[in-house]
This record gives sequence, C-alpha cells and structure tokens, in this order.
Amino acid sequence: MASTRRIVVIGAGPGGLCMGAKLREAGFDDFVILEQADGVGGTWRHNSYPGAACDIPSHLYSFSFERKNDWSRAYATQPEILDYFEQFATKYGLEPHLRLGSGARRVVWSDADARWTLSTDADTYEADVVVSAVGMFNEVNWPDIPGLDTFGGTLFHSARWDHDHDLRGESVAVIGSGASAIQFVPAIAPEVGRLYHFQRQPQWVAPKLDPPFSEEDIARFCADPSATEALRTEIYDRVDKAQTFADRDLLRLSEEAGLQNLALVEDPETRRRLMPTAPFGCHRPLISNDYYPTFNLPHVEAITDPVEKVTSDAVVTADGKERRADTIIVATGFATTKYLSVIDVIGRDGQRLDEAWSTGAQAYLGITTTGFPNLFMLYGPNTNNGSILFMIECQVAHVLRQLERMDAEGLAALEVRADAMDRYNRDLQRDLDGVEVWQTGCHGYYRVPSGRIVTQWPHSMTEYAVRTSQPHPDA
Ligand SMILES: Cc1cc2nc3c(=O)[nH]c(=O)nc-3n(C[C@H](O)[C@H](O)[C@H](O)COP(=O)(O)OP(=O)(O)OC[C@H]3O[C@@H](n4cnc5c(N)ncnc54)[C@H](O)[C@@H]3O)c2cc1C
Repeated sequence: MASTRRIVVIGAGPGGLCMGAKLREAGFDDFVILEQADGVGGTWRHNSYPGAACDIPSHLYSFSFERKNDWSRAYATQPEILDYFEQFATKYGLEPHLRLGSGARRVVWSDADARWTLSTDADTYEADVVVSAVGMFNEVNWPDIPGLDTFGGTLFHSARWDHDHDLRGESVAVIGSGASAIQFVPAIAPEVGRLYHFQRQPQWVAPKLDPPFSEEDIARFCADPSATEALRTEIYDRVDKAQTFADRDLLRLSEEAGLQNLALVEDPETRRRLMPTAPFGCHRPLISNDYYPTFNLPHVEAITDPVEKVTSDAVVTADGKERRADTIIVATGFATTKYLSVIDVIGRDGQRLDEAWSTGAQAYLGITTTGFPNLFMLYGPNTNNGSILFMIECQVAHVLRQLERMDAEGLAALEVRADAMDRYNRDLQRDLDGVEVWQTGCHGYYRVPSGRIVTQWPHSMTEYAVRTSQPHPDA
C-alpha cells in the first residue's frame, strides 16, 4: 500500500538536508527524504577519493544558518565536509524522516488527484509535492574507449573509489584531467610504481591558497562569530565577482596565475604538453598547489596523445604507444547535463520530462518547469555557480514560500506559466551567449548537443538571490 505524505524529497545530499531542516523549521513535518545510498552527504559520501576537497572556501561552503567556526583549513577535505553534513542531519532532527537505501525510480502526476505517485524498488509514496534534490554529480560519465571492458586489471571510476584495492607499487593509468584527477593524482603518486596521466585537454590549474587555520584562528572564530562572518563576507564578495567570468582583467590575472603555477613543472616538454589550449574560464577553473610538482617525479608521465584503445593489460594511444597498467582509474567526471534522467518523471497529460527536455534541461530559476506541477528542483538546470550551498539555500527559501502560499491560498497545484518560463529561458540563453569565454568552443560540462548551456548560471550569486526572492509566475 502506498504511504501518503505531504512532501517527498529525493536525495539526502546538502540540498535534501537543507530542505528537510527548513521544512521542519516552518512546521511542515509530514515529509520523507528518500536516499538511494546508505547514508547522507551526497557528493561528499560518494566522492571519497584520496585528496578529495572542496574548491570553494569552507567558510562559504557551509550553510549560512549552520556556521562551522572550527574548519581546520581554508578548503576542507572530504572527511571533514561529510562529517559536517552527518552532524547537520542529526542536529536538525532529520533521521526520522530519512529513508536510506531508497532510490526513486518513477514519479507520476495525477491531475485528477493533484498528487504525485512515486515508486522506489520496494515502496510507493503518494505526495502533494515532490522536491528533487538529486544533484548534478551523481551519474558518472564513462568514456567510450574501445576495449575498456576487456581490461583485465582493476578498473574503477574516481567517484566510486575502490578503497579495498591497494595501489602501492602498481602501474596506474589515470584517464581524464578534471577537478577530481587534479586532486587525487598528487595524493596517489608517491605510493604507485608508475603513473600515466592521460589527458585530452589539459586544464588551467591555479594555485590554491589553502593554509590550515591555526589553533589561535579557530579559537578566535569560535569565541567571536563575527570574525567568521567577516571572513565569509570577504570570500562571498570574491567568489561572487569571479564566478560570472565577465571581468576580463580578472580572467587575465587568473591565466597569469595558472601560468606561474605551470612553471613548477621542470621538464619543458611536459610543461608544453600541460599547457591549456582553451582560455581560462572555458572549463571549470581548478586549483591545486601539488598537481604540477607531481610531474617532476620520475615515475609520473603526462600524456596528451588521444587514447585510442585499451587492451587486456595496457592503454594504447593514437601514436601506437602502449603503456602497461595494473589499474585504470577513470576520471572523466559526470553526466552533468542529464538532470533527473535516472528517474522516470511523468507529468501532466502523460508528458515525460526527458521528452520535454529533449533539447536540453530547462526550468524557471532551475526550480520549476511547465507541465510538472508541484515538482520543485534544487540545484536544477542553470544553477551551477559559486558556492552551491548558497544557491541551494536560495532555492529552498523559494520552495518554502510556494508551499506557504499553497496553504494560504488553498492551491492544490502550482505550476510555472509557460510564457514566463519561455521568456526566462530565452533571456537566460541570451545572457549565457554574452559570456565571452563560453563562446570559445567549450564543450561537455556546460553544453548539450543542441548547443545550449544547461548547467551554468551566468550572473552573480547575489542576482540569483534577488530573482529567487521574487514572486513565482504561476497564475
Ligand atoms: C568532487 C566534487 C567536488 C565538489 N566541490 C564543490 C565545491 O567546492 N563547491 C561547490 O559549491 N560545489 C562543489 N561540488 C558540487 C556538489 O555536488 C554540490 O556542492 C552539492 O553536493 C550539491 O548538493 P545536492 O544535494 O544538490 O547534490 P548531491 O550532493 O549530489 O546529493 C544528491 C543525493 O541524491 C541521491 N540520489 C540521486 N538519485 C537518487 C534517486 N533516484 N533516489 C534517491 N536518491 C538519489 C544521491 O545518492 C545523493 O546522495 C563538488 C562536486 C564534486 C563531485
């Protein structure tokens, strides 16, 4: 029999947890949070590779209403961030609402009942409102390399790190050079026997100003929360300015910083290979102090010749060169543009979300989409920018206001008007086209085959906060 709830939240990452905490605070107690994993934390539970850390300073990568004054360093590492979210779930009384090991598979809207029916493998829920908090980094992206499935050694994706496998002394091939590889390559290099880092498109890697906080700093932050507040504001202002990629001087300075960092590579040929070909900001900017020096180790090689195939025991590049490997670690990121594709979402009049989004995901403020009433998304299309936790807080506040309105105005269903959503997305795409650096042939992370950029928010976080605080255009 179906369990009936007012609200079902899908996902217990930062988004689902924030939603749960704010629902409770506002008195909406009739909700469950479905999570397919066996614990909370989302990204920070799944991505436990060596060296995993945030790349937005922790004092901004935490909720404004749940400050952590004792972060150990400027950019906290995965265990400390996961701990923050686990403690958050306990402190905000979310455990009774959590349904762990419950992956949502299908969600179907009924106009007659103004409700969603949601199925997991084991259970069915009926709910007035569904909030999707499945994130953008859950579906891992496997490269389409001939022979990869015939590899006889150990093979895993960096986002599903095989902690039972001992890399010590092994010949290890790493394929991909995004944010994760930049973090784990320096962490595993000292212990492996040989490390081949295959990269199609070397990225810009700027220095990371990542000092540990001293005991005195932490004591000061704990004794005087206004000191943490001041630091958070300073970080916010810096990030808000940088993440719009509009300031040419800042882009130039970032490239210069990247070049200075690259100069840490001693071998001129390796330096040449690692020189990015796209301008800074075209792809997600990366930061690391130890990535480039890793290539000064005699057993580490950067390879930019395209990978042609994988055999039972080697990676073969287009120049015919074969490099033997015991383990291949695939670090080719996530299917970031395929929002919600793991769930069958069927809206008004049997409309399927994947068909509605066949040319790319779109939503009003990334939160609501026409034809799918009472469905709210957190970290949805075109909301990637700055500290995602800040963006999520804006979204959660927006959703709560709509829930309160539904109660106050006796609305059974709430759906964004088609004209408002179309206008919003037309303007959004125009503004995205205005970001010069994204018009230089960036692909993948940001774009779908139709050419639309579906992940990025092109303005500041402040602009997003202003827009999400405005009335929702639904009548
Ligand atoms: C390695 C890495 C580093 C990052 N660093 C930063 C950073 O420094 N700063 C920043 O702002 N952002 C960063 N991000 C982005 C990060 O994903 C977000 O900051 C944040 O985790 C988003 O929270 P979320 O709850 O929306 O999604 P997630 O954290 O991805 O959580 C989603 C949850 O939904 C669950 N789920 C998915 N599908 C289903 C389903 N069908 N049914 C039930 N549960 C489901 C997942 O298991 C997961 O627990 C990083 C991402 C990665 C991968």
